[in-house]
Parts: sequence; structure tokens; C-alpha cells
Amino acid sequence: MLLIKNGYCINSEKEGYFDILVDGNRIVKIDKDIEGGFDEIIDAKDCVVMPTFCNAHTHLAMSLFRGLADDLELMDWLNNHIFPAEAKYVNKDMVYICSKLSMLEGIRSATGCFGDMYFFEEEVARAAIEIGVRAIIGEGIIDFPTPDCKNPKEAVEKTKSLKEEFKNSELVKVSYAPHSTYTLSEDTLKMVANSLDENDIVQIHINESEREVELVKSQKGKRPLEVLNDAGLLTDRTFMAHCVATDDEEIELIKNKNAKVINVPQSNFKLASGIAPICKMVKIGIDVYIGTDGPASNNNLDMIEEIRTSSLVQKIKFGEKAMDSKTILKLASNFNGLFDGIGYLKEGNLADIAVVSLEGIESVPIYNPYSFIVYALNSRDVRDVIVNGRVILKNREFVDIDEEEVKFRVKELSKSLGGL
Ligand SMILES: [Zn+2]
Repeated sequence: MLLIKNGYCINSEKEGYFDILVDGNRIVKIDKDIEGGFDEIIDAKDCVVMPTFCNAHTHLAMSLFRGLADDLELMDWLNNHIFPAEAKYVNKDMVYICSKLSMLEGIRSATGCFGDMYFFEEEVARAAIEIGVRAIIGEGIIDFPTPDCKNPKEAVEKTKSLKEEFKNSELVKVSYAPHSTYTLSEDTLKMVANSLDENDIVQIHINESEREVELVKSQKGKRPLEVLNDAGLLTDRTFMAHCVATDDEEIELIKNKNAKVINVPQSNFKLASGIAPICKMVKIGIDVYIGTDGPASNNNLDMIEEIRTSSLVQKIKFGEKAMDSKTILKLASNFNGLFDGIGYLKEGNLADIAVVSLEGIESVPIYNPYSFIVYALNSRDVRDVIVNGRVILKNREFVDIDEEEVKFRVKELSKSLGGL
């Protein structure tokens, strides 16, 4: 049993200074002065203890392309730089090691769960299981040959076999991942919809920019969300990244379908796409999550930065009360319905827990710990990370993971692309 002792618990059924007792992969007790014999004790004095974050939308393996093509608009970036680089450099080994690098980067900002869409997703799963983090993997379905599937039908078949392979995994869940309504025909989208079993999850990019909306209108005579809905893919199991160019009528439609939205602000800003109106969505009860998007469009996987940006930018567009610190922290910790029992410290819930040190200058003084985490915290303050009851980061060091080796291997790979 693992005891996390005397930390200040937030996003928790008991808020304040408490001990947390973990048995196996679950929180079994939150109380004062828990006694007994323990296998391991983490002293969390002068620390905030909270649920780990879920990076709900990313493309982990794109760490190889970090900084390769910057200061471009979405379609230029994608068509003229990223798609050609992927055709040339993406393979099994690259996905494995570059995803691993990204997971380690994410853990340093208290991330314990990743929503991923890419290629060779079995390698993302392998990296997640080896490191011990959660991942929702989605094999990219797109209307042209990908590095590992000749056509969308093959990608759908691969998704089915991944589902079978990981059906009993505690850490990995498998989703369908049609790329977008501009890279897929309506027939392909319908084919994906017809492949879904009742509880299947779908990840997709939607309404990333006004230009995307115009492109889809010119291709299909309707907006992306309408295309998705007509294909039968706008459901309560659909997780839509971006939703920037989304009007009030579409927000109502998302609400009526109980579809999910993932906010990825830094990527949206860097590609000059715009601001997603998430405060309007949260206000009417739409489930909104936070993600970094891939490291080629962000260019890092720091969820603490992403959470802060998510809150601040809503204020710029919608006023100072648009997004408070407690609300945004809850959005960033949850992945409702995917892994039940994460995102909230509670007896019986999964033990996905981060311990944040308060020894930094920026943590003096603290009046409101939610405000501290959202507006002042740095990822260097993240001290310990526990996922599924296992300590992965301890005193800022990875347990049983050779960080230097992972960095070295990605650096070596980058040399063929002109990396230093
Ligand atoms: Zn994306």
C-alpha cells in the first residue's frame, strides 16, 4: 500500500490537509493521520495533491517534427509540410520512441492520460504500457494511403483488431480516429459510422478554422458539423478537437447530441486558427476537455501552460468571468466515460495523482490553491506523479525509465531531418 501523507488535497471529496491511501490501483481512504503498515510513503508536506491531467487531444509521435515548420497557417502547414514529412519519416520505430518522448514530457506537467490520433498506434499503446500512463489510441483514418494503411477500409479493420488486442487493458482504450471532414469523403465517414459498436469512441478534428469550414462547404456543400451529423458520427461518444469556427446554432446541436469538445488553444493560436467559444459550451453543459494537440503545432505538451491559456483567452474574448480556475482545472482532469474514476480524488476512484511542490518562489503566498495551479504553477513544481497506483515520477526523477536514452534516440532520428 502507498500512503501520500499530509498534502493539501484539491479537486477532492475532502479538501485540505489529508492523507491518501492507495491499494493496488485505487484510492481506498482519504483521511487525517492514517495509520498502518505501508510499502511506500510519499511525504506531501508543503505540497498540493490533485488528480493528474488528461491531455485529451494530441499526436504524440509528432515530437520528431517539433519546430520543423512554424509560423504557417493550418492548411499550408498540413499540406505542404506535415503530410509530406509523415509520408517520408513515419514508421513503427519512430512512433514508438517519439511517443515515449512525448509521454515523458507530459508526465512532467502532471499528465497521466493522453488522447492520441496517429499511425502505428499499437506502438503508442506499447509505449504507454511500458511507461505506465493511460492512452486512448486512434489509428488515423484518412482518404489517402497513410504510413501503415493503404486505404480507410484497412485503417478501420486495424482499429477493430486493436480493439480486440487491448480489450482487457487497464491503461489503453481504442477509439476510431477519422481525421476530419475535409480529408474524408462522406462515403468514408458513413463507412466508419457503420463500423461502430455501441460503446465505441470516435476522435476527430472539427471546425479547426474558418478556412476549414469554407473548404468543406466547397467540397460538400455543407459545414463540417453537418457532414459529421449526416454521416451518423455526431454522438455522445464523439470527441471533437478544436471546434474553433463554431456558431451558436452548432453549439446547440453539439449539446443536443451530447457530443464532446476538446479545446487545444495554443495550437489554434500558433496556426492562427482562432478561439473556441468553450465558455459558452461549458455554460450549457457540454463536456469540454483540454489538450495540447501535437508537438509540431504547439510546440510542447505542457498541460499547465495549456490550462492557463485556456482560461486566459476566454477572458480576452468573453470577459473576466468567462472561465474561473476551479472550472478549468476540472475540465483538464477529467475524461468522462473513458476511464471511469479519474479526475477526482475520492475513495474508490483510480489512483491517478500528482503531487506539486510548494517550494517555488511563485507558490508564496497561496490564498486559493486552484488559482495557484492555474495562474502561477510551473511544470518544474510537479514533483511526483502516480498513475493507476504506480509511482512514475518521484522527486522529479522517472522511476525505471531512462529519460536520457529516449532523448538520445529521438535526437539521432532528427538528424536525418536536419536536427542539431
Ligand atoms: Zn490534432
